[in-house]
Amino acid sequence: MTDSLMATYARLPVAFSHGHGAWLWDEEGKQYLDALSGIAVCNLGHAHPALAEALCEQAGALLHTSNLYHIPLQERLGRQLCQLSGMQRVFFSNSGAEANEAAIKLARLYGHRRGIDTPLILVTENSFHGRTLATLSATGNRRIQAGFEPLLPGFVRVPFDDLEAVRQVAVNEPRIVAVLVEPIQGEGGVNIPTDDYLPGLRELCDQHGWLLMLDEIQTGIGRTGRWFAFQHHDIQPDVLTLAKALGNGVPIGACLARGEAAEVLQPGSHGSTYGGNPLACRAALTVLEQLGLNDLVSRAESLGRHLRAGFEHALKNVNGVVQLRQRGLMLGIELERPCAALVSRALEKGLLINVTAERVIRLLPPLVMDEQQADLLVNTLAPLIRDFLSDEATP
Ligand SMILES: *Cc1c(COP(=O)(O)O)cnc(C)c1O
Repeated sequence: MTDSLMATYARLPVAFSHGHGAWLWDEEGKQYLDALSGIAVCNLGHAHPALAEALCEQAGALLHTSNLYHIPLQERLGRQLCQLSGMQRVFFSNSGAEANEAAIKLARLYGHRRGIDTPLILVTENSFHGRTLATLSATGNRRIQAGFEPLLPGFVRVPFDDLEAVRQVAVNEPRIVAVLVEPIQGEGGVNIPTDDYLPGLRELCDQHGWLLMLDEIQTGIGRTGRWFAFQHHDIQPDVLTLAKALGNGVPIGACLARGEAAEVLQPGSHGSTYGGNPLACRAALTVLEQLGLNDLVSRAESLGRHLRAGFEHALKNVNGVVQLRQRGLMLGIELERPCAALVSRALEKGLLINVTAERVIRLLPPLVMDEQQADLLVNTLAPLIRDFLSDEATP
């Protein structure tokens, strides 16, 4: 069946035909509760009527013209994103990796402008920034890099959530021009840094003239209970990258900047044929509108708390559960041992979850999930976890 495709994915044995909100149906008509949202993409759930209508209308009017011309929808989306984020200018791409590529190019150009010929970007261990050559070089996971050497030079790696390590590097390395970091590491295992980490990075960036570049491709657009995860703190980045939930499934990414960083890219220095085309921008405008109209960002906060309380109760005193990490609707349940097998067990029970960093169950439910569905999620998953851990204990 998949002979025609390159073997890039180890796919689960299921294909979905349609969805509605947090529900999906496979080709045999079996119903599934979606607690992954296509990896933090479908924040509005599936088959959202307002989005479907906007896309149909846009397809009937105009899909694409290229960036050789003005695109009013792109300008409108740019203004709205800047208003929500406190940034000043936007470059639109078609994916997260491309948004980060724009940020990396921007940082290098910023460095060259300051007379640094070999500018370096500080990145962290266990990070994930994408699969293109530049972004996999920035990524802090050897398995994603292996076999693709030579990697792109120009990255300096430090442990995540370690300000002292950043200070040490700063002393010895005058060529650093930027820090690229996820406010919460997603693929790396839902790693939430201590509260002083991002403010501390901001301070170091100010001190040294570095750009603070936040990869909010997974955490952005309401996921953590704020429009952007950095808004949990009293800070502002210089560069912000977005994708995933921005289009709710229609491919679109964005690299936002402010201050000096917003003036670095000029005609001829970067571009994309599709980037920010009318269809993608119409989708993103509708996503922002619907999230706002239904107050779904606060909902991510409250439903996240509800889920956390549910799991804390259901997994209390369960041996083998290391930690529950949660911010908004980004949840990680770290187990003592590798638990990829849980994904198929949940699938059998009609539940879509993900396991990342080998031992962390990652939940990224759509922001439209209701409390009953959230309770179903807890009541389906918690027993699976308990059984899994006791199976392992007595093999
Ligand atoms: C998913 C993700 C990316 C890559 O996005 P693509 O659209 O798959 O290229 C980059 N950074 C983070 C934090 C992500 O979660």
